[in-house]
Amino acid sequence: MSSDGNIASARRLPSVDEVLRTGIANAAISEFGRSAVVAAVRDVIADARQAGTGAAAEAVAEDARLLLQAKAVPSLRPVFNLTGTVLHTNLGRALLANAAIEAATDAMRSAVALEFDLEAGKRGDRDDHLRGLLCELAGAEDATIVNNNAAAILLALNTLAKGREAVVSRGELIEIGGAFRMPEIMSRAGTKLVEVGTTNRTHFKDYKAAIGPKTGLLLKVHTSNYRIEGFTSEVSARELAGLAREHGLPLVNDLGSGTLIDLTRFGLKHEPTVAEVVAEGADLVTFSGDKLLGGPQAGFIVGRKELLAQINRNPMKRALRVDKIRMAALEATLKLHRDPDRLAARLPTIRLLARPKVEIEELVGRIAPLLVAKLGAAYQVESVACASQIGSGALPLEIVPSAGIAIRPSASRGQGRALAALGAALRDLPVPVIGRIADNCLMLDLRCLEDEAGFAANLNALDLSEGWDASA
Ligand SMILES: *Cc1c(COP(=O)(O)O)cnc(C)c1O
Repeated sequence: MSSDGNIASARRLPSVDEVLRTGIANAAISEFGRSAVVAAVRDVIADARQAGTGAAAEAVAEDARLLLQAKAVPSLRPVFNLTGTVLHTNLGRALLANAAIEAATDAMRSAVALEFDLEAGKRGDRDDHLRGLLCELAGAEDATIVNNNAAAILLALNTLAKGREAVVSRGELIEIGGAFRMPEIMSRAGTKLVEVGTTNRTHFKDYKAAIGPKTGLLLKVHTSNYRIEGFTSEVSARELAGLAREHGLPLVNDLGSGTLIDLTRFGLKHEPTVAEVVAEGADLVTFSGDKLLGGPQAGFIVGRKELLAQINRNPMKRALRVDKIRMAALEATLKLHRDPDRLAARLPTIRLLARPKVEIEELVGRIAPLLVAKLGAAYQVESVACASQIGSGALPLEIVPSAGIAIRPSASRGQGRALAALGAALRDLPVPVIGRIADNCLMLDLRCLEDEAGFAANLNALDLSEGWDASA
């Protein structure tokens, strides 16, 4: 019945072949390949037919080209991290040092002696590339490398306390970002959790009373993302090490972020270094590669040789191992730690954390006028003092004085929507800008902004027209 209408609109649509003969389609074919263009053209024609609209061959070709262009944008793309959190887990944590990027790139391009002993001409062990460096920097007997710190803990628990009990303070049963909860990791490792003490106070006698024939290990966990204050008491790593030794049990210390160097030299608060914790008597210490260490995602286990030999025999080790690209980046990153004097110049994580406040303030002074010009009267732009965080659970309460830009909607009504529209427009930029919304304002902490020219050019594309109603 309606066939007349359908035929009429279909008549106004070109065939796939017609579209493919256009110049636009040919340019698209050299960019995206023939089969992708054919499929996109078919999609555009089918959509037009469904909508009952006609179109010229050039218009269909252009729509198909735009479709393919949108699909070609990488899903994982660079952003400006202006959240004020230097090691932001959702934004990929540490930025790698140039030396690490070069080493990783070389490893990607060529065959490497990953598990090949070049001297003996025999099969080698991939951990050999980092073992010496880790032992040197951590003052440990032995070391291994796995996918991340969660994997390091899983592997250590599963190896040393499968079917046995792990004793841990109630004050240290941490959750990190929802997906990592110490009790859940323990149960997946096949370890029975034995909680001792209370949330705020755990004593030596609590640990002592919990030790029995089924105990596999004592576990100490760095309370990375919170601190219990007030009427508190915890047992020091040194005391725990003594207790563990007395009972012939290993003490595992999950340091979380873990730092190989004393942070006070960069004006930050002291955080126990891996070497200090090893020296305090922990039998195994686990820590991350992409937190304060400033490398790619990885987890380290350092400590006593016979325990690491057991860990290396665990079949799970194979499932948790690290590839050549990360091994190369880790080696370069660890080597930088041999020269702490130049670490702030070479390692982005430390460079950003140690960045002088005056430098950030000067940057704010140059960037704020650009925002004023771009945002017009609808928003108020103010240069403010603010506080950066290290992030990823390192020194949770440590605040690093910084400078930033606070943007507030001028109109008193519809502020929430105006802020949301601004946040969306910033995220929609060619290089998305990620700030943080707090107290009715959008805050941009400029600590991590280093590419000033790139930021300014990017800002030119800011378009607030969508979703923004000035009368709201
Ligand atoms: C961050 C953290 C972990 C998890 O480390 P990943 O490298 O993210 O797997 C485990 N324990 C503590 C104490 C942490 O801070």
